[in-house]
Amino acid sequence: MDNETIKRDVVIIGSGPAGLTAAIYAARASLRPLLIDAPADAEKQTTPGGQLMITTDVENYPGFANAIEGPELMEQFRRQAERFGTEFMETWITEVDLSERPFQLYTKGPTISTETLIIATGASAKWLGIPGEAKVPNGFGGNGVSACATCDGPLPAFRNKDIVVVGGGDTAMEEATFLTRYAAKVYVVHRRDKLRASKIMQDKAFHNPKIEFIWNTAVEEIGGTADDGVQWVKLRNRQTGEEQNFPCAGVFVAIGHKPNTDLFKGWLDMDEIGYIKTAHRSTATNIPGVFACGDVQDAVYRQAVTAAGTGCMSAIDAERFLDHLPVEMPSGEEVTMEGEHVTADHQAIITPDGHMIPNQAELAVGEE
Ligand code: NDP
Repeated sequence: MDNETIKRDVVIIGSGPAGLTAAIYAARASLRPLLIDAPADAEKQTTPGGQLMITTDVENYPGFANAIEGPELMEQFRRQAERFGTEFMETWITEVDLSERPFQLYTKGPTISTETLIIATGASAKWLGIPGEAKVPNGFGGNGVSACATCDGPLPAFRNKDIVVVGGGDTAMEEATFLTRYAAKVYVVHRRDKLRASKIMQDKAFHNPKIEFIWNTAVEEIGGTADDGVQWVKLRNRQTGEEQNFPCAGVFVAIGHKPNTDLFKGWLDMDEIGYIKTAHRSTATNIPGVFACGDVQDAVYRQAVTAAGTGCMSAIDAERFLDHLPVEMPSGEEVTMEGEHVTADHQAIITPDGHMIPNQAELAVGEE
């Protein structure tokens, strides 16, 4: 088995909403996708099935008039992908070689060789690492502590209550602003006296009467009871050292996300945080035949439904590519599997040997 090479046309890495939606589409297109996922590992924080596996009620995934539990939703995704013939493999990919097609993915066992690669490895929310933050039953995670206001803000536990948001970036401003729809008051606790957020997001937050800032302050502990959830946070002023137990009904940690892209560093174009750059209207990366979907390429929306949407796009992009049709690249050019480039203005085709030919359709007989 060790020296075996598994050959595929489509390999998907990641089994959250993006990866599994890509699998459903690729499998239905008879592309026999192989979906690879990392084994569950508490230390490395890998969660097969993605972030929904650590969520309780999902109320905003369309198609479920009543809430559905995150793990149950992912089980449905998985069974749907299986039904059309997706093959699953749980293993660590230790290294990739994307220098030419077929791309090579190395594991401790077989090598996987694929004509197209769909990366859906997601992103992980960063946590403070303080007492009380861990998931229930070890802390209040899921019982008043969250890293997603859109997911959890509308829950009854936060209605007309005081809420703490931790962080000073765009996410913190966005989450705080969103939470003012439900909360009595939102306190943004930031470790410095200046925000990292963009000016427009800062201005919106500063002008919102329901948002108050607590500067130069660290959240050091989250407390409460199992029945009532979060009831207080311990705050420490980083300049004066002063400590206080601050009453609140919820804590939204918004200190950034880490996209799971270490494996692809040096191969794929990424932004400064590590999100993979994709084309404007497709999921293509800078390497023809490599596509990225879901949170691994999205610092802005980060929803299950947007991840699923881009998962669908990536399967269709891979399908087009394997059908030798042009796919739009981040540069605005389109490329085909043979290495032909259609210029961004669509006026010319550059062949792999460097010839330029016009891209105008030839007129049909009888046309002017
Ligand atoms: P950022 O990295 O921009 O900000 C993280 C914030 O959390 C910083 O203020 C940082 O403090 C603070 N922080 C980090 N670690 C800790 C810690 N251990 N304890 C306390 N505070 C901590 O992350 P964001 O998620 O806000 O944004 C990521 C990217 O996504 C950005 O490029 C952003 O512009 C983009 N984005 C865009 C949105 C939009 O356009 N609608 C919405 C959301 C995000 P410090 O400032 O001191 O470093």
